[in-house]
Amino acid sequence: MFLDNNRVFELLEKYGSPLYVYDEKILRQCCKDMHDLIPEQNLRVSYSVKANTNLEILKIALDEDLDADAMSPGEIYLEKLAGFPSNRILYMGNNVSPEEMQYAIDAGATVSVDSLSQLETYGQLNPGGEVCVRFNPGVGAGHHEKVITGGKRTKFGVQKEFVPEVKEILKKYDLKLVGINQHIGSLFMEPTPYVAGVKSLLEIAAQFPGLKFVDMGGGFGVPYHEGEGRLDLKETGRQLNEVISEFLKDYDNKDIVFKIEPGRYIACECSLLLGKVYSVKENYEKTYVGTDLGFNVLMRPVMYDSYHAVEIVKKDNVDAPTEIATIVGNICESGDIIAKDREVKKAEIGDACVIGNAGAYGYSMASNYNCRLRPAEVLIDMDGNDRLIRRRDTFEDLVRGFNT
Ligand SMILES: *Cc1c(COP(=O)(O)O)cnc(C)c1O
Repeated sequence: MFLDNNRVFELLEKYGSPLYVYDEKILRQCCKDMHDLIPEQNLRVSYSVKANTNLEILKIALDEDLDADAMSPGEIYLEKLAGFPSNRILYMGNNVSPEEMQYAIDAGATVSVDSLSQLETYGQLNPGGEVCVRFNPGVGAGHHEKVITGGKRTKFGVQKEFVPEVKEILKKYDLKLVGINQHIGSLFMEPTPYVAGVKSLLEIAAQFPGLKFVDMGGGFGVPYHEGEGRLDLKETGRQLNEVISEFLKDYDNKDIVFKIEPGRYIACECSLLLGKVYSVKENYEKTYVGTDLGFNVLMRPVMYDSYHAVEIVKKDNVDAPTEIATIVGNICESGDIIAKDREVKKAEIGDACVIGNAGAYGYSMASNYNCRLRPAEVLIDMDGNDRLIRRRDTFEDLVRGFNT
């Protein structure tokens, strides 16, 4: 909670509700945390921008010397607009059309492919070119089945047994493999699965001399629950340094770069989502606090059963006892629940509702479902001043695609 109660109401008054608020100081600190992960090694941090695509956030990440990952041509477009040089963009396509791959090649991004057939496609489009391959060493991790992206039951990456086939295709099209990457999943809170994944990835890297980089993936977790311990970055870095040092003993290119691609860790903790309470009711012995924070604004609780800290902030700073309540939004679906059975201050109309850790996969997954307008975004800069970094949608935005 980086805003005091008065500021919450001040910002809601000034910019309207709902509202995503970002704190630049925290954002910059998270970028630094990732830079410092493995001080002993040649480390580069690529921000996985799908977590938060606001241009101002991207510019701050760039200013903190981060590179960028892209999952789509749209993300490449945004990253270039933010000022990322194309040679610092790694495009990780997954089942993409040749046109899309060509867009990434033309943009000058490094392209990573994630199947043998996509490697063929790349070879046909850009024979003699440089390419990267995403492997799946058979290890996965994550907070929810939908975000486990490594292991034996996901669609991602090239199985490690297919190294000979990869080599064959590289040879057929005279391609140079400059890097390999993986991403085993999102939100690990202790280092073991990630380090195990890196170890397997490095076993694959050892079979490809002359790589310029190994990209170990993202997924660095942040504590969403009140009082939850943090991911021990020092210990994670120590273990990573150990497996990397072991790998480097026998590897030919001692200048190889190790990349990580955090998304959530960069953007999550710097943001609060503010909303307002518009109704409070009892329905069959349950208290419902009705807000404007529907799943069109924050999708994670509905999509992944995710937990976000919630606070009811009392108008005029009045005191109130706590009660157990379920915080819901304004979308016409009974699944539209932000937080179930939470102990919060007894809510009344006019109070504010504040959601913690909203910066990653918050606005970037917001939608116009129910023809609701996506919220505005505000940045609190290093001097503590607030400014609008994305305006709220308007009705015109809802009909942008029509020839009206
Ligand atoms: C989503 C994604 C990331 C970032 O994941 P976080 O959990 O936000 O760190 C990194 N790499 C790839 C390939 C991804 O798909």
